[in-house]
Amino acid sequence: ALILGIESSCDETAAALVTSERAILAQHIASQDDAHRPYGGVVPEIAARAHAERLAPLIAATLADAGLTLNDVDAIAATAGPGLIGGVMVGLVTGKALAMATGKPLIAVNHLEGHALSPRLADPALRFPYALLLVSGGHCQILRVDGVGQYRRMATTIDDALGEAFDKTAKILGLGYPGGPRVEKLAREGDAKAVPLPRPLIGSAEPHFSFAGLKSAVLRAKDSGHYRDADIAASFQQAAIDCVIDRLKRALATMDGVTALVVAGGVAANQAMRHALEHLAAAHDLPFIAPPLQLCTDNAAMIAWAGVERHAQGQSDPLDFVARPRWPLDPEAAPVRGAGV
Ligand code: ATP
Ligand code: MG
Ligand code: FE
Repeated sequence: ALILGIESSCDETAAALVTSERAILAQHIASQDDAHRPYGGVVPEIAARAHAERLAPLIAATLADAGLTLNDVDAIAATAGPGLIGGVMVGLVTGKALAMATGKPLIAVNHLEGHALSPRLADPALRFPYALLLVSGGHCQILRVDGVGQYRRMATTIDDALGEAFDKTAKILGLGYPGGPRVEKLAREGDAKAVPLPRPLIGSAEPHFSFAGLKSAVLRAKDSGHYRDADIAASFQQAAIDCVIDRLKRALATMDGVTALVVAGGVAANQAMRHALEHLAAAHDLPFIAPPLQLCTDNAAMIAWAGVERHAQGQSDPLDFVARPRWPLDPEAAPVRGAGV
């Protein structure tokens, strides 16, 4: 099958054509970084407008690159949440319009399911069930992935997401937006042991993550004037990695029968994080699977792939499907204190 994927939940406008044989026939990603940079973060109204301006020509360009038309497509998969609702609506309405005009089925994709299944697009050998660390701009979760649509949340953040912590650290260090990759770059020149920073919840009996205290400590370290920025960046990154590894160890001890340790989401692009996870996986005799960097941050290939997986199960969605600003992968998961979902 051939699926057109549409992504517009944050600040990347993207379209992709992906086959069930895992071929990405064409894809375009228009980043809005320049539009949001003056504000130091994503401005929802600017994002929604930019998506509305760019999406249609981007889809046309994607089809043209592949030498295909909408007639060749088997279904249209559009992100239907969670995310900034204005942007989500632009992508979902576009997907609905194309589905209506062509008579092709619509697949309303959970953006997080796009991240969660993206490692299967990259690696045909990856089978269910797998342990997934989902670390992105809005989420920090450990999930047990038992199948398409079958996610059990083992842990989540009780305050900030990990990508958010990277972005805030970047802001504190004056590195600008988007922050994650810049913190990683600066961290390479620093000493990860130079700045004493807390590792919230390490060793705790509860399964969850917390990064708010770490962020405050980064701010205090910067304000003290005692440390080099590169040392702060390196120490922050190491503290974050230590937290992730500790929480994953705890979670893995409770997960039977998983076939791999998998990471997805924007922070999965971080090389130091990938190395630490690789070691952890090896210690647990599990293969470590991480998608290529361009599949970690937001893209439409992962949305198309989630469409491929759901289409293969005969699933589609009604044209009156409503966009969702919040949409947990595991609806059964108990709420935690703070903002985590
Ligand atoms: P969500 O998927 O939760 O809705 P999002 O779509 O905004 O959020 P992603 O695009 O998956 O998030 O990831 C973006 C986040 O990843 C940002 O917070 C960014 O700073 C972080 N990130 C990207 N590259 C790196 C990197 N190399 N190191 C650390 N963090 C990174
Ligand atoms: Mg982005
Ligand atoms: Fe994302």
